Amino acid sequence: MAERLTYDMLICGSGLAGLRAAIAAAEAGPSLRIGIVSKLQVMRSHSVSAEGGTAAAIMEDEGDTVESHIYDTVKGSDFLADQDVAELLCTEMPSEIYALERWGMPWSRREDGRIDQRNFGGYSFPRATYASDKVGFFEMQTLYDTCQKYGNIEYLNEWFATSIIHDGRRFMGLTAIELATGSFYELRASSLVIATGGAGRLYSFSTYALSSTPDGLDMGLRAGMALKDMEFVQFHPTGILPSGILITEGARGEGAYLLNKDGQRFMKRYAPGKMELAPRDIVSRAIMTEILEGRGFRHETGADCIKLDLRHVGDERIREKLGAIREISIKFSGIDPSEDLLDVRPVCHYMMGGLHTDIAGATEIRGVWAAGEAACNSVHGSNRLGANSTSECLVWGRIAGEAAARHALDAKEAGPWPHHLVAAEEKRIYDGIFRGGGHENPYEIRQQLTDIMNEKAYVYRDGEGLADGLRQVRKLRQASWMHVDDKAPQYNTNFVNVMEIDSMFRVAEIVLLGALNRRESRGAHARTDHPSRDDANFLHHTLAYHDPEGPIMRTHPVTITRYRPVERKY
Ligand SMILES: Cc1cc2nc3c(=O)[nH]c(=O)nc-3n(C[C@H](O)[C@H](O)[C@H](O)COP(=O)(O)OP(=O)(O)OC[C@H]3O[C@@H](n4cnc5c(N)ncnc54)[C@H](O)[C@@H]3O)c2cc1C
Repeated sequence: MAERLTYDMLICGSGLAGLRAAIAAAEAGPSLRIGIVSKLQVMRSHSVSAEGGTAAAIMEDEGDTVESHIYDTVKGSDFLADQDVAELLCTEMPSEIYALERWGMPWSRREDGRIDQRNFGGYSFPRATYASDKVGFFEMQTLYDTCQKYGNIEYLNEWFATSIIHDGRRFMGLTAIELATGSFYELRASSLVIATGGAGRLYSFSTYALSSTPDGLDMGLRAGMALKDMEFVQFHPTGILPSGILITEGARGEGAYLLNKDGQRFMKRYAPGKMELAPRDIVSRAIMTEILEGRGFRHETGADCIKLDLRHVGDERIREKLGAIREISIKFSGIDPSEDLLDVRPVCHYMMGGLHTDIAGATEIRGVWAAGEAACNSVHGSNRLGANSTSECLVWGRIAGEAAARHALDAKEAGPWPHHLVAAEEKRIYDGIFRGGGHENPYEIRQQLTDIMNEKAYVYRDGEGLADGLRQVRKLRQASWMHVDDKAPQYNTNFVNVMEIDSMFRVAEIVLLGALNRRESRGAHARTDHPSRDDANFLHHTLAYHDPEGPIMRTHPVTITRYRPVERKY
């Protein structure tokens, strides 16, 4: 039997989006009891590892404009962004930079004392606001610190949410496991913000924290919400070998070059106007083309790569502006970037897709909003520009947090609690998963699944490979693997991992199916068998709904306001 706790409002996830939502909610509803449910300790959320910057047009007196930020975002998205949503992001961002500033954010500064901004891929103006190369870490500290001002925010740290409870019309609560005790709970509330982050651990070569699995997305999916545009996966051009840890675009923003084996800055052939600072999809494709045409390097692990040259940036500047990159390169690859070249290749870094929301972050279930990387409000379309994601977390964290608080303030008496749904969830996870009868090693199954994703749905894809990937994933899922060896109630990470793997299968299938159905190339989705963008047939979003027989795929229109889609050139 589930134990019970009652809140007015819940937030699932304590990354940038979740914490920003909590502050907005606490301000809008000082009388509300707000619970933040997080499977991690707050400062373990993947947001702390954001390195390079947060985009905002704050230098209008020096020539930047919000309009230019909007256009860069829409063009970067390969015209799949909803343009009203991009406009909202860019209009709201300057005030978020100053809100953080007031709360104590140590933004890096210029000599004249103004907040500094650096160059980032795809922008027409240096617009990435930064704090050395530890932007996410400082932003998280600042928001968490600010949360402490409010007496009505409670932290359920190391609680693993498993499902959304609703009566078919409106939200009623979450089910969750308190990891410290292993107890199963129903958490009742009037509203919810889902801020469970991205799912980049679907890939084996990935910049994400190991905890970035799609259990939050899957929770929404199982509750009846659509996942949108999941086929668009961002590969960051510079994951360092062998680990895949990110070398921020800020490195190229500070002047680093990409070199092939002939010593050429090959980007001049692919994006002569922007060189290494073209958008990520273009740079990643350029790297893979160099490698496939035989101009790459072979790393000692056997992986193909190209080189990133920071030597001319100089030791002093590297230490000041890229201190974390220096440390990562030395510790994890044994290379000092001021002396030698780094081995890099494209690495899974961001999911443009997520839970389908409208411009205000509202999902298809009344009382539930989604914000941050877990959400897809379509601000990034088919390719996100670097530094626009932490921005998105801030803007929609605030919008969703405020809306969910208002909803909770206005909430009427809830209808009868659906005990049968909680009982069904308890059966699903304890009988189906915890006491599952499989015998194969779930961690090996996870490795195989993420290797398939890496091989079949990487930078370049084709119909045959995607269909094969889909077949392999479906077959693997049927294997007899569902079981938990560790039966301890306390901190049972084995149980958590198996639940995460279960969710990975449903979401991987949607990524592959969406990619197979989209017979065009747009943004981060590059099909060698359909190399052109096809606006006549594919200028639409993809929606996927859950069905036990396999995902139900639909389409959804793109909002185009000011900019007609044109060919994207840099
Ligand atoms: C290495 C790296 C560097 C990056 N650098 C930049 C950058 O410089 N600029 C930029 O704009 N973007 C950057 N990004 C992207 C950006 O950091 C992320 O998109 C963003 O921080 C995601 O924040 P979030 O709040 O949505 O989720 P996250 O920070 O990922 O947090 C997810 C939260 O959900 C919780 N959670 C998940 N599942 C459950 C569950 N089942 N039950 C309970 N809780 C759950 C977790 O505990 C966690 O608190 C980077 C990403 C990476 C991986």
